[in-house]
Amino acid sequence: MHLTDLIARRNTPFHTYEFFPPRTEAGFVNLLDRIRRLATAPLPPPLAVSITWGAGGSTAERTMELAEQVTRLGLEVILHLTCTNMEKEKVDKALEKARALGIQNVLALRGDPPRSEEYAISPISTPDYFTHADDLVRYIREQHGDYFCIGVAGYPTPHPDSEGPEDDLHWLKIKCDAGADYIITQLFYDVEGFEGWVKTCRKNGIDVPIIPGVMPIQNFASFRRLVNLTQCSVPDSIMTALEPIKSDDAAVKRYGAQLATGMVQRLVSSGLVPGVHFCTLNLEKSVRTILENLGWTPESSNRVQSSPLPRHNQLIE
Ligand code: FAD
Repeated sequence: MHLTDLIARRNTPFHTYEFFPPRTEAGFVNLLDRIRRLATAPLPPPLAVSITWGAGGSTAERTMELAEQVTRLGLEVILHLTCTNMEKEKVDKALEKARALGIQNVLALRGDPPRSEEYAISPISTPDYFTHADDLVRYIREQHGDYFCIGVAGYPTPHPDSEGPEDDLHWLKIKCDAGADYIITQLFYDVEGFEGWVKTCRKNGIDVPIIPGVMPIQNFASFRRLVNLTQCSVPDSIMTALEPIKSDDAAVKRYGAQLATGMVQRLVSSGLVPGVHFCTLNLEKSVRTILENLGWTPESSNRVQSSPLPRHNQLIE
């Protein structure tokens, strides 16, 4: 089912999970067990599970294998698909396989070129290749009409390659105009900044659902690495709280779950977003703790509403 239809049927906040395909058979088995546990009562079931795609198709087989297994668990899948350095044939194959598996949701991304390549915003661009995510959105629409519900990435802190917030917003609008149905955002820790960005999106005519990416802090080193990579701003209060506990992984994890719980509570009560997307890093404990803290029960998450939610731009008027 289309993610946007699932969202429209809800009267309570939802969550989705993001997982990446493990490299080994044992890793696969472990991850599937984890996904099964995370989707089972007393935890509320996720609205969908997204599976990442290695840039250039590097994980194509493993991604499709995981997507198939997750579909077999009876869960709705969002298939990530990147387009930089991807021949159209590879994209076609992935979309055909997705259709064969009954997958109707994709997240259309540019992706990043392999690290070894010098990247000066010059991914391969020939008639047989795509350059930006909007090319992929347009292509999927041309080839598959309305079969797929297409998501794109959004950046509350402008993408590192962009010339600034206005430029980034301009291209996000282009992606929506090309046919995107929803946006999943890059992780962030500045909730106030995020809320301002959503309002700016709405003012600029972007009216599809925006699902915030929430990544619970797992340990200090990986948090620092991700913040550097995404260049997202971190409020001083978070750095102050982390400083005295940064070498104690268990304490950082506890703090990360508590912080993410507060972020989710504030995000869903703002009325700006319909739910949240957990970037799990394939880990179980933090999201489990957050969902327990939130008290979202399977019953409350299964209730459907009788009339559709207002468009999101109406919510901020
Ligand atoms: P684009 O939308 O193409 O944007 C990239 C940059 O170019 C931005 O600065 C934008 O402002 C600019 N731009 C956009 N369109 C144009 C245009 N037509 N002309 C000129 N400039 C333009 N990566 C993976 O490899 N695999 C994954 O599974 C994956 N999943 C992700 C999930 C989420 C929720 C997010 C937020 C990111 C994910 N990524 C993934 C990372 C993503 O591929 C990178 O952030 C990548 O650098 C940009 O992808 P994009 O789709 O946002 O690109």
